[in-house]
Amino acid sequence: MFSPADAGRMLLKPFPQPELGSLPDIAARSGRQSRTTPQVAENLPRKMAQHRPAPGLRPEQEEEWVAGGAVAWVADREGGAAGEWARRKHRGTDRFKRGLFVRVAIASGKGGTGKTTVATNLAWVAAQEEKSVVYLDCDVEEPNGQIFLRPAVSWRKPVTVPVPNVDLAVCDYCGQCGEICQFSAIVCVGERVLVFPELCHSCGGCDLACPLSAITEVPREIGTLMAGHRGPLRYVQGLLNIGEAMSPPVIRAVKAEAREEDLVIIDAPPGTACPVVEAVRDCDHVLLVTEPTPFGLHDLNLALDTVQTLEIPCEVVINRAGLNGSATEEFCRRRGVEIVAEFPDSRRVAEAYSRGELAAESDPEFRDRFRSLLAHIEELR
Ligand code: SF4
Ligand code: SF4
Repeated sequence: MFSPADAGRMLLKPFPQPELGSLPDIAARSGRQSRTTPQVAENLPRKMAQHRPAPGLRPEQEEEWVAGGAVAWVADREGGAAGEWARRKHRGTDRFKRGLFVRVAIASGKGGTGKTTVATNLAWVAAQEEKSVVYLDCDVEEPNGQIFLRPAVSWRKPVTVPVPNVDLAVCDYCGQCGEICQFSAIVCVGERVLVFPELCHSCGGCDLACPLSAITEVPREIGTLMAGHRGPLRYVQGLLNIGEAMSPPVIRAVKAEAREEDLVIIDAPPGTACPVVEAVRDCDHVLLVTEPTPFGLHDLNLALDTVQTLEIPCEVVINRAGLNGSATEEFCRRRGVEIVAEFPDSRRVAEAYSRGELAAESDPEFRDRFRSLLAHIEELR
């Protein structure tokens, strides 16, 4: 097993995996200009030695992080596109692709289509069939899976992100930290260094750029993780603090809680922006939930574009089917995406929903439909 410091050193030399290359190679191949200045390169081993994987990782996850994830981690700090390139390379060797378990994201371009309904019912049905399953509520601005799954809470803990703290006794106000920051989150003005934690993306660039090592990272709380269980079903949710703008770190923290379960169900946030990309990007499969309305179709189109850009296999689930199905079917045919399940519009299910009850619990027909969808997902392994 490599140590983090080894990983850092390897990044400064040709990496043993020839297809990855060095950090500047990664950036160049992704079409971005490298921001690796000599100062950054000099500071990188120190930074990597300080860095520890997220708390709570099991030994094999930690090993995986060090062996390959470090490349993605550092490349991510180099820039989004480079990070994505490295992650894709890394994904081919990680445990998900070794068939140890399947990670399925339930997403939709539009809120209110029934994404949480599908995700919670699927998780419940899997647990009923004694599958090893975890439900991860990554809709961290409004997690509501717990309303339906009603887990017994085991623990809560804060989610923090590292932000810079400047030691003014060491700083000589050279301004290099402000020059490398792409978000104006740290600015050197005369003999003052101003830090704006809310703007900071925790990329670590200013720390790497500082020639005097005057910057250390301090944690800033941005949300909360909560975990629990309902019988054999494990439940994890993230909640972004009110007023916080960046949900991806909370989503990453939720996803890091997936453990040895065979099936990981990710309830993704709605939309097509950073939060949904963060939720789905290392998944094996995405189910896009839509409703047969013009609004549903419009947003399905956007969601499909997003998932196909990320090159993740996806299929469509129609909720409240029967309203105006032909347009959705025609759209899916045209876009070459399969409809794998349909859940009919049902007054009984709507009433159960309004009481916070699961459709699969209250209606045998829905239970059978979710069982069929689960069987389909299991074929993905
Ligand atoms: S790079 Fe370091 S020394 Fe220069 S202004 Fe920033 S904190 Fe101070
Ligand atoms: S860690 Fe924050 S302040 Fe430092 S360069 Fe990155 S975004 Fe800017």
